[in-house]
Amino acid sequence: MASHSGCCASDNEHDEHNHGHSHGEFSLKREITPVAVSMILFVLGLIFYEPLHNTPFSIGEYLVFIPAYLVSGWRVLTTAGRNILRGKIFDENFLMTIATLGAIAIHQIPEAVAVMLFFQVGELFQDFSVSRSRRSIKSLLEIRPDSANLKINGEVKQVSPESVQVGDVIVVKPGEKIPLDGEIIDGTSQIDTSALTGESVPRTVEIGKTVLAGTINKSGVLTVKVTKLFAESSISKILHLVENASSKKAPTEKFITRFAKYYTPVVVFLSLAVAILPPLFIPGATSAQWVYRALVLLVISCPCGLVISIPLGYFGGVGGAAKRGILVKGSTFLDTLTAVETVVFDKTGTLTQGVFQVNQIVPKNGFSKTDLLTIAAKLESQSNHPIAKSIVSAFGDVDTSDITDYQEIPGHGVRGKIGNQIAIAGNDRLLHRENIAHDVCSAEGTVVHVAVDGVYAGRIIIADRLKDDAVEAIHKLKQIGVKQIVMLTGDNMAIAQNIAQQLHIDYYFAELLPEEKVEAIEKYLRQSGNKKVVFVGDGINDAPVIARADVGIAMGALGSDAAIETADVVLMTDGLSKVAEAIQVSKKTHKIVWQNIILAMIIKGLFIVLGIFGVASLWEAVFADVGVALLAILNAGRVLRAD
Ligand code: ADP
Ligand code: MG
Repeated sequence: MASHSGCCASDNEHDEHNHGHSHGEFSLKREITPVAVSMILFVLGLIFYEPLHNTPFSIGEYLVFIPAYLVSGWRVLTTAGRNILRGKIFDENFLMTIATLGAIAIHQIPEAVAVMLFFQVGELFQDFSVSRSRRSIKSLLEIRPDSANLKINGEVKQVSPESVQVGDVIVVKPGEKIPLDGEIIDGTSQIDTSALTGESVPRTVEIGKTVLAGTINKSGVLTVKVTKLFAESSISKILHLVENASSKKAPTEKFITRFAKYYTPVVVFLSLAVAILPPLFIPGATSAQWVYRALVLLVISCPCGLVISIPLGYFGGVGGAAKRGILVKGSTFLDTLTAVETVVFDKTGTLTQGVFQVNQIVPKNGFSKTDLLTIAAKLESQSNHPIAKSIVSAFGDVDTSDITDYQEIPGHGVRGKIGNQIAIAGNDRLLHRENIAHDVCSAEGTVVHVAVDGVYAGRIIIADRLKDDAVEAIHKLKQIGVKQIVMLTGDNMAIAQNIAQQLHIDYYFAELLPEEKVEAIEKYLRQSGNKKVVFVGDGINDAPVIARADVGIAMGALGSDAAIETADVVLMTDGLSKVAEAIQVSKKTHKIVWQNIILAMIIKGLFIVLGIFGVASLWEAVFADVGVALLAILNAGRVLRAD
């Protein structure tokens, strides 16, 4: 947001800035040179002011101060000129330009230089602070791999991850970051996935297992066949999301931009009135005196500090959240999160770990336990649902070569052909849907029923566990002002009730189909009025609900790509306490942003009055403006700190 083309500029100009900054890193050297050159000339000019001023026509004074003025004011002057040509007159570049040209006209040349110079120093601080926020976001992105060891014809070559194609083979040595998503074709190792999942226990991997870009290979050498282009990997989707985080603006931010649009012309006309009217009507008032006051007024009223510090505050908020593993897709969601009264959770994989233990296998109609588990595992091997993954891992290696016509029925289960038999695995609702006679409808635990060619083959009873921090996380939410906690689940009523009791959840709805979850959230959206509704899910069967809520939060960034795309806030880890943390960060950001707004308004107002009554000089005006900007910047920096 460091503004070289105007802090009061229009929305799309802000976007240009973001854009510019996401590519060109802040270079202190490049930015500091003009300021330093101008500063040296300025100081020399002040030291030798008398002799320079006493040259014929004060030519010496001009020779020193005008170059200093041009060097420090170049950007402001040219931007003001460009904006005037584009028909956008009233921005702060314009204010600075007429104020300083006016000062030169009434022979207040050092003052003119000071205005430009200190303004430039303020800009420097803004740039610095933006780059700091950005760095904190980037630090999260240290998961970004820089190179891949591509293996071609037995030779290994270092290339950039972007240039690797699907099907290429790469080698990952111990200690290296895995650069691309792929499947292990040789080697075994321990993988540290903490950067992506927050899970600190290393995972053992071997031939046939999938590895993800951004995780770290700990122990063995791995040969990996690449399965996704770098641009399609989860990590690069996350990176993209973070880099574009500042594009969705908060209402407060938009309000300030709009405010500046009206404010600036008002100030310009007020100054004009101050310059012209008093000398006409007040006896003894001189033009020189009132023109000077008008110029002071122009400088003081530059809304830079205000307009700059708001986006900066939000930017700090987004950065501070990122530091904690919370990716917020835009400052607007930070604003929304401050007004949350209802938090709705999905159950499986969100409140619970989504890792089911097989508790009981009950075969029927002549099937054996092994038959039952084999059929279920074959079908479930095609699904991404936590239930499916658990059944597959309970079974071990499944041969999936004879599965055809696979179909996933959201909220019900899965269906497919094994050989030439039609098999299904899923909940009670699925059995009813397929008209399969079965003996029990409800059982203790989550139940996966299996049927083959219309004959009930039995059920597998599995159990999930609450997340370790679930109780605490819900308690925390209540503590920070969330009024109601709701749980939605597609699982059966008995389980829902049990979990709701353990976690002190206010309302729960069970046996919901994915579309019924959307209806449930819509009901809460209608009831909530100005207050906001958050939905937290894992992205499996609930992406539409995530999309529908005021703020959709996706847990465990690797859950599903769809969730990463539709969610407004993505939690890198599976930790439930991050939800409350996200709300806290947003409240803190909101508070700081409003502190800045009020601080700026009070100081501005004070100096405007002082300026009109001739108490404040141009010097003080400049310091007041830079001072407000600096205070605001420092204050905004507080959001970044994790406390
Ligand atoms: P939730 O996340 O609340 O469990 P889902 O919509 O993901 O909601 O699932 C609802 C129910 O549908 C599950 O509890 C399960 O009974 C059934 N189900 C969904 N997918 C599968 C699957 N792949 N295998 C077996 N059952 C499934
Ligand atoms: Mg789910």
